[in-house]
Amino acid sequence: MYNKFSKDPNEFISHEEILESLKYAEENKNNKLLLRQIIEKAKEERGLDHRQAAILLLTDDKETNKEIFSLAKKIKEDHYGNRIVLFAPLYLSNYCVNQCVYCPYHAKNQNIVRIKLTQEQIKNEVIALQDMGHKRLALELGEDPINNPIDYVLESINTIYSIKHKNGSIRRVNVNIAATTVENYRKLHEAGIGTYILFQETYNKKSYEELHPVGPKHDYDYHTTAMDRAMEGGIDDVGIGVLFGLETYKYELVGLLMHAEHLEASFGVGPHTISVPRIQPADDIDPNSFKNSLADDTFEKIIALIRLSVPYTGMIISTRESKRVREKALDLGVSQISGGSRTTVGGYCEGEDINSAQFELADNRSLEEVVDWLIELGYIPSFCTACYREGRTGDRFMSLCKSKQILNCCQPNALMTLKEYLLDYGSDFSKELGEKLIEKELGKIPRDLVRDRAKKLIKEMATEGKRDFRF
Ligand code: SF4
Ligand code: SF4
Repeated sequence: MYNKFSKDPNEFISHEEILESLKYAEENKNNKLLLRQIIEKAKEERGLDHRQAAILLLTDDKETNKEIFSLAKKIKEDHYGNRIVLFAPLYLSNYCVNQCVYCPYHAKNQNIVRIKLTQEQIKNEVIALQDMGHKRLALELGEDPINNPIDYVLESINTIYSIKHKNGSIRRVNVNIAATTVENYRKLHEAGIGTYILFQETYNKKSYEELHPVGPKHDYDYHTTAMDRAMEGGIDDVGIGVLFGLETYKYELVGLLMHAEHLEASFGVGPHTISVPRIQPADDIDPNSFKNSLADDTFEKIIALIRLSVPYTGMIISTRESKRVREKALDLGVSQISGGSRTTVGGYCEGEDINSAQFELADNRSLEEVVDWLIELGYIPSFCTACYREGRTGDRFMSLCKSKQILNCCQPNALMTLKEYLLDYGSDFSKELGEKLIEKELGKIPRDLVRDRAKKLIKEMATEGKRDFRF
C-alpha cells in the first residue's frame, strides 16, 4: 500500500504504485487536456508529482515535449540564475566488502590495487585540489567496517578542513558513504559535513537485491531508509540519485520522485540535490551487459522532468558524462558539476590510473578548462559554499529556494568566488574572460544594496588581498 508518510520503504517506494503510475501514464500519455493541465501546473514552478511526471515522460506529443525542455530551462534560471557550482570528488579508499555488479571496487575484483589514503596522503590530495582552485569536495569511499570505519571518515574530514595552503581552503565537504546508523550520521553532522549523499542505485527491490548479491548493501530496506536516519541524526541536506542503466528509466524516475515526496512529507524538506549518473565502463565492468542503458535524448528528458518536478532541488552531473552531454544538461536544469575530477584513490597526486578508477571519465578537462568553458557559455562558475556556513540548510534553505530568494545570495556569491578563483588560480586567458563576465553580471544584480556591497568586496579582494566574503 502506497503511503509517502510511512517509515516502511516498501510503502513509500511502493512497487505497485510505480507500476500503477506507469500504466496510468501509458493510458493518458497523449491525452491533450491532461497534458495541458500538467504543463500549466509545471509553469507554477512548485513541482509535479510522480504520476504527472510519468505522463510527461511517456508522451510522444511533440508540442508538449518542446514545452518540457523550454520550461526546464526557465525554472532553472528563475531559481538559480546562471551560476553553476563546481566541486570535485575525493576518493579516500577503494576497500569494499560489497559486490555491486556495476562497480569495479566490488570485493571480488582482484585486478585493482586496494588503496586507503593516510592522513598525510589526504593532505597532499587536498593541497593539489586547493591549488586547482576547488573549495567544495565530495568524499567517496567503499563500505568496509575494518578498513574504512566511521572514525577514519571523521578524522579525514577534520584533516581536510584543517588544511590552509596559500589562499586555499576546503569550505564544504559533502560525504558519500554507505548507509549507516543514526549515531554515525550524528557524528558526521557534528563533524560539519555539507550534504550527505547516497545513491539508491535502483528503486526496484528485486533488481536491487540481484545487483547487490553479497554484503551489507544487499539489505534494500536498510539502504532505502538511510536518508530517514540521516535526517534523524541531524543532517538536513541529503542528496539522492539512481544509477541510470541498471533498471528501466521509467521505473527509476517514478521511484526517485516518490523518494523526494517521502522526504518532503516526513521531514518537510525534500532532497537538497539529485544526481543523475549513468552507468559507465570501468575495469571488469561492461555497460553493454546492462540491458537498460538509455539514449542521450531520453537522458535529457529525464533531467528536464526532474527540474520540473522538484524545482527547488540542486541537480548534479559528473565527469562520467561528456562535454557535449554536460553542456545540454546545463541548459535543462543541472546546477552543479564536477571539474578536473579524478576517480582513483590518490589520483590528484599520482594521476589517473584507469585500471583502478571507479569509472572512466568522459570529460577529462582540467578545472581551468571547465571554468573557461562555462564562462564562454554565459554561465558564472561558482565556488560558493555560503549557505551551509551561514546556517541556511534544510527547511531554511528550502523556503528561500522555493520563494526564489536564494538567487539574491547565489549571484553575488558566484561572482565573488569567481573573483577569488581568478586572483589566486586564474590563467591570463581565464582572467580576461572572467573579469568581463564579473563586470557584466554585477550590473545585473537587481538590489542596489547587494550590488554595491558585492562591488566593494570584490574591489577589496583585489586591492587588499581579502578573501572568503559571502552573502
Ligand atoms: Fe563498494 Fe560502493 Fe562500489 Fe558497491 S558501489 S562495490 S558499495 S564502492
Ligand atoms: Fe549554493 Fe547557497 Fe551558494 Fe547559492 S548561495 S550557490 S545555494 S551555497
